[in-house]
Amino acid sequence: MMHAFEYAAPKSLDEALKLLGSAWGDTEILAGGTDLLSLMKDFVVQPKRLVNLADVGLAGIAPEGDSLVIGAMTTLDALLAHASVPTALTQAAAGVHSPQLRSMGTIGGDLLQRPRCWYFRRGHGLLAQKDGASMVEAGDHRDHAVFGNGGAAKYVNPSSFAPALIALGASVKVRGQNGERSLAVKDLYRTPASATEREFTIASNEIVTHVVVPISRSSNATYEIRQRHGLDWPEASASVAVTVVDDKVTAASACLGHVAPVPWTVDVSSLVGSVLTAESAAAVAAEVVADATPLTMNGHKVELAKVALTRALLRAAGKEVVR
Ligand SMILES: Cc1cc2nc3c(=O)[nH]c(=O)nc-3n(C[C@H](O)[C@H](O)[C@H](O)COP(=O)(O)OP(=O)(O)OC[C@H]3O[C@@H](n4cnc5c(N)ncnc54)[C@H](O)[C@@H]3O)c2cc1C
Repeated sequence: MMHAFEYAAPKSLDEALKLLGSAWGDTEILAGGTDLLSLMKDFVVQPKRLVNLADVGLAGIAPEGDSLVIGAMTTLDALLAHASVPTALTQAAAGVHSPQLRSMGTIGGDLLQRPRCWYFRRGHGLLAQKDGASMVEAGDHRDHAVFGNGGAAKYVNPSSFAPALIALGASVKVRGQNGERSLAVKDLYRTPASATEREFTIASNEIVTHVVVPISRSSNATYEIRQRHGLDWPEASASVAVTVVDDKVTAASACLGHVAPVPWTVDVSSLVGSVLTAESAAAVAAEVVADATPLTMNGHKVELAKVALTRALLRAAGKEVVR
C-alpha cells in the first residue's frame, strides 16, 4: 500500500527541476525506484509528487578530457559492462548481488539511497530519538556506526559506490533552478544535526546529473565484507587508490564504507615512500581503526573495517592473497 501521489514523467531536465518542491518530503526524485519505492510502501517517505528522471537524458558514460563522465541514470549493469570504469567502482557495483537491482538501480540512486537503519526504516526518523534518548544506543545496534557516532546520528551510510568514488577523487554535477554546481563526492554527505535535515548537502529541488571520475593511473580496488554472500549490504568495506612508482607508493587515498553516517575518508599517507607489503597495509589499517568508537554491540565492525582496508590495499597493489 501507498498513499496517493502525483506522478510526473518530465522529458527534460529543466522540466524536471520545475516539478521539484523546495521542502524535503513534498516531492521525491524517482530513478530506478529500488530504494524509494520500498520507503514509500513503508510510509517512511510520503511525497505528494514523484518526479521520474527516466526520460531526461541522464544515462550514459563518456570520456571528457581527463575524466569519465557518468550520467546519474546509468544503471549498475551499464557500469559493469563499460571497459573504462575504474576497478574500485566496478567491484562495488558487483557487490550488489541481485540481477534485478543491477538492471534497475542507478549510480545516482546508489549515492543517494537512504540508510538501512532499522529504526529509520520503521518510521523513527534518521536520528531515532525517543524521549530525548537514542533508541539506537538503548536497542540493537550491531550494524550501526563505529566512527563519527558521537552525535545523535548512529546509522551508517549505505552506499558502496561513494567510498570508491571518494578514493578515486570523483565529483558530482548538481543542477538546480539557478544553474549547475560541482562538488566532491565527499561533500555530498553530511551528518544531520536535527531530525528535519537530510543526510545530503543538496537541496530537495536539486538533481545530481553526473558523476565525474578522474581517469588516473592509480591502481584501485574495493574490498567488502558481508555476513554472507547474499543479498545484503556489507558490514564494512574499503576502497583505495594507490600510485606505485619503482615499487614505492607515491600517493594513496582510502575511504571506508558502512561504518559511519558518512563515507569515512581515512588517512593512509604513511604508506607514501615505502613498498606496500602485507605488514605495511596491516599497520596503516590498525592506525586507522585506532580512532573507532564502537558501541557495546558492534565492536566486530572495527575489526572488519581493519581487514577490509588491509585487503583493499593489497588487492590494489596486486598482492592480495586469496584463500
Ligand atoms: C537487498 C538489497 C541489497 C543491496 N545491496 C547494496 C550494496 O551492497 N551496496 C550498495 O551500494 N547498495 C546496495 N543496495 C542498494 C541499491 O544499490 C540501490 O537501491 C540502488 O542503487 C538505488 O538506485 P535507484 O536508481 O533504484 O534509486 P531510487 O530508489 O530511485 O532512488 C534512491 C534515492 O535517491 C534519490 N535520487 C535518485 N537519483 C537521484 C538524482 N539523480 N538526484 C537526486 N536524487 C536522486 C531518490 O529520490 C531516492 O531518495 C542494495 C539494495 C537492496 C534492495
